[in-house]
Amino acid sequence: MAINMKHISILGSTGSIGTQTLEIVRQFPNEFKVVGLTTNKNSDLLLKQIKEFKPKAVAIMDKSKADDLLNFSSAQVYSGIDGLNKIATLHEADTVVNSLVGSIGIEPTYNAIKNKKNIALANKETLVAAGSVIMDEIKKNNVNLMPIDSEHSAIFQCLNGENIKEVSKITITCSGGPFKDYTKQQMENATVQDALNHPTWNMGNKITIDSATLMNKGFEVIEAHWLYGIGYGYIKVVIHPQSIVHSLVEFVDKSIIAQLGMPDMKIPIQYALTYPKRFQNSSKPLDLTEIKNLEFSEPDFEMFPCMKYAYEAGTVGGTLPAVMNATNEVAVHAFLENKIRFFDIQRLIRKMMDGHNTIKSPNLKDILDIDKLTKERTKSIIEEEMVVNN
Ligand code: MG
Repeated sequence: MAINMKHISILGSTGSIGTQTLEIVRQFPNEFKVVGLTTNKNSDLLLKQIKEFKPKAVAIMDKSKADDLLNFSSAQVYSGIDGLNKIATLHEADTVVNSLVGSIGIEPTYNAIKNKKNIALANKETLVAAGSVIMDEIKKNNVNLMPIDSEHSAIFQCLNGENIKEVSKITITCSGGPFKDYTKQQMENATVQDALNHPTWNMGNKITIDSATLMNKGFEVIEAHWLYGIGYGYIKVVIHPQSIVHSLVEFVDKSIIAQLGMPDMKIPIQYALTYPKRFQNSSKPLDLTEIKNLEFSEPDFEMFPCMKYAYEAGTVGGTLPAVMNATNEVAVHAFLENKIRFFDIQRLIRKMMDGHNTIKSPNLKDILDIDKLTKERTKSIIEEEMVVNN
C-alpha cells in the first residue's frame, strides 16, 4: 500500500481548508503522507501539525517566527514567499494542496506545476487572476488540476465520462450569502460582524466577505471557465439558499446532471485527493426528507454588482481579472479592519477596473506586476479617502 501513497504538501495548512485536509489525512494514514506544510503566522498550530504529521519541511511567512520555530521543529523551516515556493516544489511531494488565501497563491501554484506536481486547488485567485497562464502550464506539464471548491468539484463529478462538447450549460449554485434578504440600505450599513455571519458555510474571513458581496460567485464563474473551457455565456449562477445542490450541468439533449451533498468541505477535499477513487468516510449523509425545501431563484446583479464585474472581467480577459482580484483583496481587508464600508468594496473594484488598460496576453510576470501595482494603488486610494472623510 505504501508504494501508492500520495505525498502531499499543503500550502496554508492552518486555515479552514488546510486543517480539514489534515483531518482527511488523519483518517487515511495508509493513503496519504504529509511532506510539507505552510502557514501565514500561526506558528503554534503549525508546531502541533509538525509533531503529528512529521513533514520533511515547513514554511512560515513571518521570518522572525521562522527563527523561533527552528528551535522546536523536527522539520526544515523556511520563510517568506521563497519558503512557500520551496514547499510547493519539494522533491518528495507529488501533490500540492493550495489553500492559500489571496493572489500570494499564484506563484507557488505555477512553480508546483512546473515541477510536475498534481494540484488540488482551493486558492481561487490562482485561476481568477492567472487562468490562461496556469492552464497552459497544466497542459504543457501534463499534470492534474483538481478543484477543491464544492461547486467545481460538483461540476467535475457531473462531467465524469461525458463529452464536454455535449454540454449546453453549467449552473453554479450560490447560497446568496448573509445579505440575500437585505435591503440596499441594510447592506449599506452592514457591519463586519453581519458580513461574517454566513448562513450555510463555515469558512475563513476573506472568503466569507467575498460570499457577502457575491464576488466569490463571480470568482467561481471565472474558475469554471478555465477549468472546463466553457464560454461565459454558458455559465449561469442560481441562488440556492440550502447549499445542498452544489452545481448542475445541462447537456444538449436537455438532460441535467447535478451533484448533491451536505455543505461539508471535507467531501470535495477528499474527492480531490482520492480521485478517481472514492473512500468511505464519516461525513454526515444527506437525507433529502430532512431538508424538505430546495429553493432556486435568479441572482440579483444590481444588488450584487461584483458578480457582474466578474463576468465583465472574465469576458475581456487579459490582466483585467487580476486587477479586479487585487482590488477586491485589498478592499476586503480594509473592510475587515473597519477602514471602509461594505459598498466601498464594489465601488473600488469598479473604479480600478475602469482605470485599467488591459494587457491582452499577459505572462506570469505581467500578472504579478499588475497585482502588486493595483494593490498599492488601492491602498493609497483608501488612505487618501480616510483622510478626506475624517
Ligand atoms: Mg464555493
